[in-house]
Amino acid sequence: MTKEERDTFQTALDEWGPEAQVGMLHEEMGELMTVLNKLRRESYPGASWSALRGNALEEIEDVRIMLDQMAVMLKSDEAHQGELRQGKMQRLRELLRLDRKRNERPGVTVREATATVTERVSR
Ligand SMILES: [Mg+2]
Repeated sequence: MTKEERDTFQTALDEWGPEAQVGMLHEEMGELMTVLNKLRRESYPGASWSALRGNALEEIEDVRIMLDQMAVMLKSDEAHQGELRQGKMQRLRELLRLDRKRNERPGVTVREATATVTERVSR
């Protein structure tokens, strides 16, 4: 986050208050969840996939902005946040590695393995 962004988020928090901004985060997350649910369907009446995709990308940015604002509100330290993210990314890579090992089929994605299980169950 740039200094300008941090200053803008602090100004928003000063102007509107933390409670309103937490409420705004909830609102933006709801909007993202709604459009992701629409995208998950194969078709959604009255909306093209391309328009929904564009809307989803916009809502992702709205949520990111509000999350950054929450980090400013909580007086986060960017170096510490970076360390937390690195640790969580490492955990995700480890989970993927363990899932592949559990499937004992190197190169097979979790999605492919799950599809195989689903096919077996439905036979
Ligand atoms: Mg929005």
